[in-house]
Amino acid sequence: MQTPFWNKEIETAERAVLQKIQLERLRETILWALKTPFYQKQLREARISSPDNIRSLSDLRKIPFTTKDDLRLNFPKGLLAVDMKDVVRIHSSSGTTGIPTVIYYSKEDIDNWSDLMARCIFATGATRADIFQNMMTYGMFTGGLGLHYGAERVGMAVIPIGGGNTKRQIKTMKDFCTTILHVTPSYLLHIHSKLDEAEVKREELVLKKAFIGAEPHSEDFRKKIEHIWHIDAYNSYGLSELNGPGVAFECAYKKDMHLWEDAYIVEIINPETGQPVKDGQPGEVVLTNLIRRATPMIRYRTRDLAFLHPEPCPCGRTHRRLSRILGRTDDMLIINGINVFPSQIEEVVMRIPEVATNYVIQVEKKGALDHLTVKVEIYPKLFLGEPAQLDRLKARITDELHSAIILHPSVELHEPNSLPVSEGKAKRVIDLRPKE
Ligand code: ADP
Ligand code: ZN
Repeated sequence: MQTPFWNKEIETAERAVLQKIQLERLRETILWALKTPFYQKQLREARISSPDNIRSLSDLRKIPFTTKDDLRLNFPKGLLAVDMKDVVRIHSSSGTTGIPTVIYYSKEDIDNWSDLMARCIFATGATRADIFQNMMTYGMFTGGLGLHYGAERVGMAVIPIGGGNTKRQIKTMKDFCTTILHVTPSYLLHIHSKLDEAEVKREELVLKKAFIGAEPHSEDFRKKIEHIWHIDAYNSYGLSELNGPGVAFECAYKKDMHLWEDAYIVEIINPETGQPVKDGQPGEVVLTNLIRRATPMIRYRTRDLAFLHPEPCPCGRTHRRLSRILGRTDDMLIINGINVFPSQIEEVVMRIPEVATNYVIQVEKKGALDHLTVKVEIYPKLFLGEPAQLDRLKARITDELHSAIILHPSVELHEPNSLPVSEGKAKRVIDLRPKE
């Protein structure tokens, strides 16, 4: 399963070497950050007026965190470190949880980002001989263009189709012999259910791999994708504040994602105290970008929850692996006082073989209490059987959910393709409770 390296020297560098690179680059980043009004203030608070004040990597902890709110409050140029004439691109986050934020890129930033992406693509075993259909949304969202540039750098044939229009996606996969897709996991499952309608059989496609990312998904969700499509699916993680995709990506071993530590410093903290957690423990991912000039980013609180694997990966890459994203600190639901992450619910429903490809979590107020409903799509043949069989399935799902999340949800069984589908990031939670 050994795959070629894009940059062997860096990807397999000893940890001491990586840390030396990190320190040098952190100091350089400080120099650039000092050019922005926002970091001038942050660094003053930490009594840092020049890179000389950073003597070791632990000095990073003196600097306050940067939050999404900081980015919004300093919109549009408070974090811009270069002259506008040196900016070659502007991206913005998709704004899942509020007003979007803006990130500027210099030519060098785009170049470095593309190189990281090429590293990710190579790590999966993909090569320039592959045909790459990029189903991620292009535009302000970083998912589309990020992988596009990386795939071109590797030399693959890129099909910049963007999101949506499922039938055309399927036809394109057939016409151009697509071997790799880049797509959200939820949309990839959905496309499979449309093969018949598009009058294309799986056997007519030569699909081998998919890069899946942009939204949380469980290991069972990945397994389901791999099983129904007969492909390998690789998890891809990133966020616009830290370039976009390419922060961490799975290698051919598919045992969580190498986070490129020459380009990012990763910390895992307790989101309540801000203190580092023990190695291997889950917490909030905090990232410092070491190679970006136009919008430096120091100790950015991603609000994503994950842990780091301390042990090395058999592929030989020395950069530590980040677990799949377990949830976002801001997607936790409090239902009748009990904390529930949507990912806990997904883990249960995707383990159940009768459950097909889509589900929705709905919370509403009934009298004084919150009420949770989990709607799942199941395979059509089940509706042809005995009604008692459906009741038993419903009871089983309810029981399994109850053991995982303590609450007693109502479970609804739906036919395939009856719940809303998103062509980009899936919207799994509908919270109908009145806002306080
Ligand atoms: P936002 O969704 O906050 O508007 P982005 O479009 O930059 O901003 O999306 C980044 C976010 O998407 C990440 O912080 C993370 O929550 C989620 N995300 C990206 N990739 C993955 C992945 N592979 N697994 C789980 N979540 C992911
Ligand atoms: Zn590996």
